[in-house]
Amino acid sequence: MRLLAIAVPAVLVGALIGWTFGLAVLSGLLLMALLFNWQQLWRLRQWLLAPGLDNIPDAAGIWGDTFAAVHRLNREHARDRSRLAAALDRFRLAASVFPDGVVILDRENRIEWFNQIAAAQFGFDAGRDGGILITNLIRQPELAAYMAAAVPREALLVRGGHDGSARYSVVLIPFADDGRLLISRDVTQIEQIETMRRDFVANVSHELRTPLTVVLGLLEHLVDDAQLDPATRQRFLAMLQEQLSRMNRLVDDLLTLSRLESGAQPVADEDVDVVMLVEGLIEEGRALSGGRHTFDVDLAAMRLRANAAELTSAFGNLISNAVRYSPAGGRIAVRWEIDGTQPVFEVVDSGIGIAAEHIPRLTERFYRVDKGRSANTGGTGLGLAIVKHVLQRHQATLEIASNVGDGSCFRAVFPARRVVSD
Ligand code: ADP
Repeated sequence: MRLLAIAVPAVLVGALIGWTFGLAVLSGLLLMALLFNWQQLWRLRQWLLAPGLDNIPDAAGIWGDTFAAVHRLNREHARDRSRLAAALDRFRLAASVFPDGVVILDRENRIEWFNQIAAAQFGFDAGRDGGILITNLIRQPELAAYMAAAVPREALLVRGGHDGSARYSVVLIPFADDGRLLISRDVTQIEQIETMRRDFVANVSHELRTPLTVVLGLLEHLVDDAQLDPATRQRFLAMLQEQLSRMNRLVDDLLTLSRLESGAQPVADEDVDVVMLVEGLIEEGRALSGGRHTFDVDLAAMRLRANAAELTSAFGNLISNAVRYSPAGGRIAVRWEIDGTQPVFEVVDSGIGIAAEHIPRLTERFYRVDKGRSANTGGTGLGLAIVKHVLQRHQATLEIASNVGDGSCFRAVFPARRVVSD
């Protein structure tokens, strides 16, 4: 249509007035068309320099179609972009609530993105650490070696947290063509439990080895030496009995502790006649003391809602400790009384006492201030661990006060509601 609008007037003028005029009209009209196209091109260029949805140029004809097509493309592009942004937001949100640390790395192991958990685990800073090599931020040779391995297979354990005491299990997962995803999981607690388990097995083996070695040595003598005089033989047998009963005590204590810890047997509350229970234990204490200590006993006629077997075990351990850690001539006071509203079982001795730094650790399994003394007096190192567990199961607390050389005071404080009112 436009070509016709240029050609027809030019031919008409050429035919009617002369071909020179026709040519002039043609040139004039072509020039106008050229200017018009330049103007539209310029508008397109201006818009492309600052494209927006509302300032798209408007025109008729082929330019109008072109502008409309560009406009449509632009709208689709904007829609795709906002869809992509929404998807990315959702992904980020999902990654940020992910319970593990997530770090996205490029092919050179530079950090592209990480979630809050990873930031907290390794102290990353979103403003500062983007683009930094991860091995520069987590400076552990094992991690560098792990990252360098072409296809890491197994999880690696790395240190973290502000004081380096936390443990994270990290796995590197390749994704897309050159991206890598580092997932880190906090395994501090699992590691602690694992360490405790290992220590416990090592401790038990060690505790059993000492008496076992003695038993084997004695047996060797008894078997090899048929000429052993009866007095020596008798002494060896007595030593055998002592070592075997030590092993027996250890196994008993281990079983008690395991029962208490497994919680399989909940505290079956019964009305416990504490006076009778403690009097029985004092008899055992006197037997253990062999007359070397004086006992002061003061027991209030107060019954307790508790588990009698567990109380026997806990109170018995406290009394036996007072005897074993007090030199001959010492005094041991055993009290069952009410302190305010709370029933308290108290054992005070005039023994060797305990230095303050040991007190918080006494209830740990196999913790002893003086290993030699504990072993010599038949200790298993588990007594106070049993006491702690029994008291916990009764919602009671253990209070320890002691000074080296001045003796010790162990108090089991029960909740008031456990008193049986007559
Ligand atoms: P053990 O079998 O070694 O006595 P316990 O768990 O009963 O194990 O006690 C742990 C440690 O606490 C003992 O080895 C001892 O060092 C210390 N201890 C416990 N009771 C007393 C006490 N009455 N006087 C001094 N030290 C004590």
